[in-house]
Amino acid sequence: MTPILPGATIGVLGSGQLGRMLALAARRLGYRVHTLSPDHDTPTGQVADLEVNAAYSDLDAVRAFARGVQVVTFEFENVPALAAAAAAEIVPVRPHGAVLATTQHRLREKTFLVQAGLPVTPFRTIQTLADLQTGLQELGYPAVLKTAGFGYDGKGQVKIMQPAEAAPAYGKLGEGDAVLEAFVDFACEVSVVAARGLDGAFAHYGVIENTHRNHILDLSLAPARISPALAGEAVTLARAVLEQLDVVGVLCVEFFVTQAGRLLINELAPRPHNSGHLTIDACLTGQFEQQLRAVCGLPLGATTLLRPAAMANLLGDLWQHGPPAWAAACAFDDVKLHLYGKHTPRLGRKMGHLTALAATPEAAAQRVLAARAALAPPP
Ligand code: AMP
Repeated sequence: MTPILPGATIGVLGSGQLGRMLALAARRLGYRVHTLSPDHDTPTGQVADLEVNAAYSDLDAVRAFARGVQVVTFEFENVPALAAAAAAEIVPVRPHGAVLATTQHRLREKTFLVQAGLPVTPFRTIQTLADLQTGLQELGYPAVLKTAGFGYDGKGQVKIMQPAEAAPAYGKLGEGDAVLEAFVDFACEVSVVAARGLDGAFAHYGVIENTHRNHILDLSLAPARISPALAGEAVTLARAVLEQLDVVGVLCVEFFVTQAGRLLINELAPRPHNSGHLTIDACLTGQFEQQLRAVCGLPLGATTLLRPAAMANLLGDLWQHGPPAWAAACAFDDVKLHLYGKHTPRLGRKMGHLTALAATPEAAAQRVLAARAALAPPP
């Protein structure tokens, strides 16, 4: 198939920071970028050639958008599958819409993983309060109840510690389809960001180690401090996911590493991922350029990690006592600052990130954490 070459226009459904960093990579390679979302003056729109404001459910607007580009991709997986299908009537959508449909719904995602013979956190399908009560008896306590659709960063999930909490938890989630998961007392969390080209070529960034705070990613380290054997296994599992889903583009597999040293897949993200942000500065080809190459049908780039690296997220919480001290963070001359151009710094909202490279992942983590501490003005 003929590749989509520099000079062409990439269409991005969604307009957050992932689209922004994809657009920056695309512009560097000489592509044009159009973005569609319901919002104005968005992180992606600020660096795109064209920002279209429309609801994803406005399928005529999506078709019109698709007519102006050579390929459509998406930057967050909650774009309705119907929007992807409407775009696909006009131009290639990569990855294809079925990948979206599977990964935007926890039950479909887990069912796919089980059918593919891949290891997942023990779970039960919940459609009624009775299902929940049976599921809790089978899986034990604590357990985590999650909505089946449209959840991210811990939104739409409740931890259940004892039987009396079942009914209120079910009520809180809105009583639709849900997934009950055993609570995993993990040793650590890791992810594999990987890419698959239009020709089936596979590339990966090794294993990245992640720490979450309040269900939101806080710190990522590369390479993860796990055994080479376990790292190899994680990459093999990630490759199986990309191949079985027939992904063209970047996909991230998030894992729990159990105390017994087993890998359990927690979640899939069919796009560049927060834990892969460090690849922009730390790898020969960052995850956003890789996404661009894959969706354009170009050869994938080398993923070589130049040095061990760490990434710390900057959440809206940093603004609580006034604007962050940007100059103080920039005084860390080995730390790279990335900001997403968001106007309102809400608590828990991802506003930017910091990356550092060093001799070891621990040393890199120390640098990004020190720079982040310098950003927060004293209360
Ligand atoms: P999720 O949105 O499902 O990826 O959850 C966000 C974070 O919540 C995960 O990265 C974990 O830190 C934590 N978490 C979610 N599900 C579980 C679970 N079943 N057991 C332990 N921790 C969990």
